[in-house]
Order: sequence, then C-alpha cells, then structure tokens
Amino acid sequence: MGISVEKDKCTGCEMCVSACPFGLIDVIDGMAVIKLEGCNLCGACVEACAFEAIRIEKEIEQALYGDEHKGVWVFAEQRDGEIKSVAYELLAKGRELADALKTELCAICIGSGIKGVEHLMEQGADKVYVIDDPALVNQTEDPYVAELARLARQYKPEIILAGATPFGRSFFPRVAAQLQTGLTADCTGLEIDTEKKLLRQTRPTFGGNIMATIICPTKRPQMATVRPRVFKRSTLHGSHAGQIIRLDFNKEGVTSKTKLLNFVADLAEKVKLEDADIIVSGGRGLGKPENFHLVRELAAALGAAVGSSRPPVDEGWISYPHQVGQTGKTVCPRLYIAVGISGAVQHLAGMGTADCIIAINNDPDAPIFQVATYGLIGDLFKIVPLLTERLKGN
Ligand SMILES: Cc1cc2nc3c(=O)[nH]c(=O)nc-3n(C[C@H](O)[C@H](O)[C@H](O)COP(=O)(O)OP(=O)(O)OC[C@H]3O[C@@H](n4cnc5c(N)ncnc54)[C@H](O)[C@@H]3O)c2cc1C
Repeated sequence: MGISVEKDKCTGCEMCVSACPFGLIDVIDGMAVIKLEGCNLCGACVEACAFEAIRIEKEIEQALYGDEHKGVWVFAEQRDGEIKSVAYELLAKGRELADALKTELCAICIGSGIKGVEHLMEQGADKVYVIDDPALVNQTEDPYVAELARLARQYKPEIILAGATPFGRSFFPRVAAQLQTGLTADCTGLEIDTEKKLLRQTRPTFGGNIMATIICPTKRPQMATVRPRVFKRSTLHGSHAGQIIRLDFNKEGVTSKTKLLNFVADLAEKVKLEDADIIVSGGRGLGKPENFHLVRELAAALGAAVGSSRPPVDEGWISYPHQVGQTGKTVCPRLYIAVGISGAVQHLAGMGTADCIIAINNDPDAPIFQVATYGLIGDLFKIVPLLTERLKGN
C-alpha cells in the first residue's frame, strides 16, 4: 500500500485523526495507525501532519503528481459551427494557468463545419486540436464524451476546463467519470497553487454563503466548469501564434444511446442578457409589478437590456430569463444599474464582475454599495424618472 507513518517522527498528536475525512486513523500506543482499507490516498493526513511523519510512497506520488500529465486544455464548445464566447473566456483564464505552470495551453474543438478555429490560436492557444466530421453535426453527447476522453488519455493534460453551458454541464461530468477523476462545477475562480502545482477551484456553496476552494490532489486531469461571463476575454487581440492540429473522428466503438429528433429553440431566450453591454435591473424595492415600467423606461433610454433580482421573478412581475444571480444568469456588462436591489451574495454572484456598477437604493447600508462604482442613495421613484428624462434629453 502507498501510505505509511514514520515511527521516529510521529508524536501521536492526533492532528491526522481529525484531518482524515473517512475516519481511518487511530492513535494507538502514541502512534498514528492508518486503516488502509478505504483509504484513497487523498493526502489530507499528510497535509495535517506538522512533523512530516506521514508519507505517500514515492512511486505513487509520482504517478499522482508526476510529470506525466502536462498542459492546460480548454474545451471550445461550438453550436452550428460557431465557437461559443465562453471558449474565449476560458482561453484567457487558461493562458494565465498555463503560464503559472509553465506549460502549454491547448483548445479542443469537436463538431461539424466549425468556423474560425484560428481565432482560438490567436487568442492564446498554443495548439488547437480540431475534430471536424459530418457525423458530429447533431451534438449528441456520446461521441463528444468518447472523443474528449480518448484525447485526454492519449495526450494526458493536467487540467481541462469547459463552459458550464447546458451542453457542458451534461457531457463534461461524463468525461470526468470515464477518466475516473474529479470535477468542480460552476467555478467562479481558478488559480494555480504553484508550489504543489494544483488547480485551486473556487465556487459558491451552501446557497452562496460560503466560497469553497476545492483541489483534486490525487487524480489527473483536474477538471472544472465555469459559467459564461465569469471570466473576461483575452486582450491578446489576435497576436498569439500557435498550431492547428486536425485529427480524425474515431467512429469505432462510439455508439450513441440518444438520437436527436428535433431542436426547438427556447423562445424565452430572446432575452440575451449575457450579451448586453448595458443592463438595468430591478429588485424588490420597486414594490409592485406595475412599477417595473420605471426600469424598462430607463433601459429603453440607454438601449439596455432589462434584468431582475430573484424576488420580482418569484412574484411573477417579470419572467425567469431576466433573473441575474446564482440561480439566474451570470452577466458581465460594461454598465450594470441596480434599482432597488439590496446586493445579496446570490445576486452579486451573477453581476459582480461588471465593469461599472451603479446602485440606486434608499438604504445607505445596503450591501450593493460595497461593490458599486457609483452609489445614488435615495428614493428610486424620484431618481429613476429624473435619470430617464435627462437621458431622453427632456
Ligand atoms: C439558493 C438561493 C439562490 C438564490 N439565487 C438568487 C439569484 O439568482 N438572484 C437573486 O437576485 N437572488 C437570489 N437569491 C435571493 C437572494 O438571497 C436575495 O433574497 C435577493 O437577491 C434579494 O432581492 P432584492 O435585492 O431585490 O430584494 P431585497 O433584499 O428585499 O432588497 C430590496 C432593496 O430595495 C431597497 N428599496 C426599497 N424601497 C426603495 C426605494 N423606494 N428606493 C430605493 N431603494 C429602495 C431596499 O433598501 C433594499 O435594499 C437566492 C437565494 C437563495 C437562498
């Protein structure tokens, strides 16, 4: 077995006992004893031991953390041949991670009739692996799972990222299961622990009240999904040089359990909040549904999209596609105007990265003012109509 306790170093302090998530350690006669059955070598006890008395054996450590896995990969999702903007956002973050690890950044693009793969290279990828085959036109999951898992087994990346889009959320965990590794979904922060070469994956948990930072120390690749608009696109503006590598689709052994009968576009998705440059959002402070017209009029004067916090959606004042936040959309506009919104963590999770935030609220202690670039403290029923009139030039 690959873990042992050094008798000379162990003091029987019991730090490892409380660190073991599986309760597999007892201190017997002043020395830690690890029950090997059930131990998955997570390394929590190694971390906890101040005396460096617990060791994961060298060859196992090498297999876990060794040089075999290299490179940061971004799954560049496309639909109908168009690469989704989240792919470029992930490339920007992937570039940072790859630079911190001093390794290469690769984009993986799978589909049929894919356009503009060279942009992936220009925006930071050192290599772009492309599998473009008419058989992949329908974006059913099984062939995508099989192909990404096959490539990962062949090239052994240390990190793979994908967008937390409906497709990414559905197909990417299946790739992780095939590779028998861990996956952190819906990350809002990614960084490298340069000492341990681990990906630190941060995401909200417990209803957004806690930010958890998760690591995957014993399996490779480390896999994470990130919602669109959490990271900003690269500023490389096409200056990066790289290589495009076209690979054949390995049809053999790929059987699809699902068949695409029809694709029905979600009509409610007409509200493209994610792509809006300016968003005016209304909250419970509006008081009643009829007052939402104040937000709509201000938005119209600015050429902005209309957003909402969750209570107006729950109350039926406005439809769900307008909701911004943890259980709504993540947006990153140039300007976000929050009208009568307190700034709960769950709302901030969806708009906190906007370039400029203007908050209109009559409570000077409202948390929204802590993230606002400009704060207007006062009655929204006075401020908003004045703003709208001024913007209309009246
Ligand atoms: C699991 C979970 C997921 C959630 N997901 C989301 C989510 O995706 N998005 C989201 O928004 N919330 C979400 N929530 C709800 C969140 O916790 C808050 O309850 C919600 O964001 C509050 O919305 P609000 O700011 O509009 O309302 P409130 O918190 O009630 O704030 C209303 C604000 O209006 C101000 N106001 C009142 N009258 C006036 C006036 N006349 N002039 C100016 N200001 C005025 C008040 O001072 C107050 O600050 C979630 C909660 C949970 C538990």
